[in-house]
Amino acid sequence: MKNPIDILELTLSQLESKLKDMDIAGYRAKQIYSWLYRGTLDFTEMTNISKDMQNRLSNRFNIANLKMLESIESDDGSTIKFLFLLKDENIIECVVMEYSYGNTICISTQVGCKMGCSFCASSKGGFVRDLSTGEMISQILTAKSELSKDTKEYNIKNIVLMGSGEPLDNYDNTIKFLKMIHDPDGLNLSYRNMTLSTCGIVDKIYKLSEENMPITLAISLHAPNDSIRRKIMPISSRYSIDDIFKASDHYFQETGRRITLEYALIDGINDRYEDALELGKRIGDYGFHVNIIPINEISDSVHRRSSEDTISQFINVLRDQNINVSRRRELGTSIQGACGQLRYDYLGRYVKRLKGE
Ligand code: SAH
Repeated sequence: MKNPIDILELTLSQLESKLKDMDIAGYRAKQIYSWLYRGTLDFTEMTNISKDMQNRLSNRFNIANLKMLESIESDDGSTIKFLFLLKDENIIECVVMEYSYGNTICISTQVGCKMGCSFCASSKGGFVRDLSTGEMISQILTAKSELSKDTKEYNIKNIVLMGSGEPLDNYDNTIKFLKMIHDPDGLNLSYRNMTLSTCGIVDKIYKLSEENMPITLAISLHAPNDSIRRKIMPISSRYSIDDIFKASDHYFQETGRRITLEYALIDGINDRYEDALELGKRIGDYGFHVNIIPINEISDSVHRRSSEDTISQFINVLRDQNINVSRRRELGTSIQGACGQLRYDYLGRYVKRLKGE
């Protein structure tokens, strides 16, 4: 018997041709796709397909190459975090957040991360591997299927690539993923409702500008100059803020999408009055939007959150310089919501259990 294929890796036309090889009519591909993307991840529940065909499909294809391990809901029910187990026993996480303008899902693009940012939990265990396109789609569909258990169909409106990993370091799989969820036969999501967050891999930002996919680009800046940035983000030894700004502006010129700069405030590192002044000056006429994130404190890290006074001062100094700035709503704090935090926390508990502590 041939090895099962991950059906979520396949575009509609690829699925059609695989079905043709099995002597199954092409129109079935659309039916199956429609089930999958509504969150039905079991062939036996696809009621317009005969039992015999369901069996043949189950033998040929895998659906969703991950299993739900744990789900945790925030106290107010607005955020739910999923921990998923992959086929090779690696663990990833994904978060669903309910906003007034629609449900948003935050997904991971890699297991662990190579970037080594000092405040980020995803880097703590190092890099393990890239996720496949199918594994990225599985996160959405598995979350959708879990959440549909209570409601009729759970709608996802926005996708943000802000879970574990650096999406531009897993470029091809990430682009294929975004194209597949944009497809009208897939999730039919508008590119405008997708946000890719990157620590600033400059050559890939130029490449992304040419993809003809007007997604929102968010740059994790976190510093007003290269010397502060080098202290917390190793990637800054490869790319300067000047180069990142030029690439971001090019992206804006090509796509018309306004760039967001993410800035996580860390006590005593990047949150001084003069840091806000310098940041504002540097942004100048670029027109970037700044999103201020009070840092989520992670275990084993020396970084602390800035005080409320410092946070408001920082925002005001930027506003006084006519910079467009907002503060991120903190939905995930009570459930270890920051990037990579839940997985890191879970791995810690798991190791303790193994040691019998
Ligand atoms: N690698 C990508 C995407 C993943 S991180 C990137 O660097 O953008 C998503 C966002 O969460 C980034 O802005 C990241 O810097 C931020 N982040 C990571 N750890 C955090 C923490 N402990 N508190 C607040 N934000 C954090």
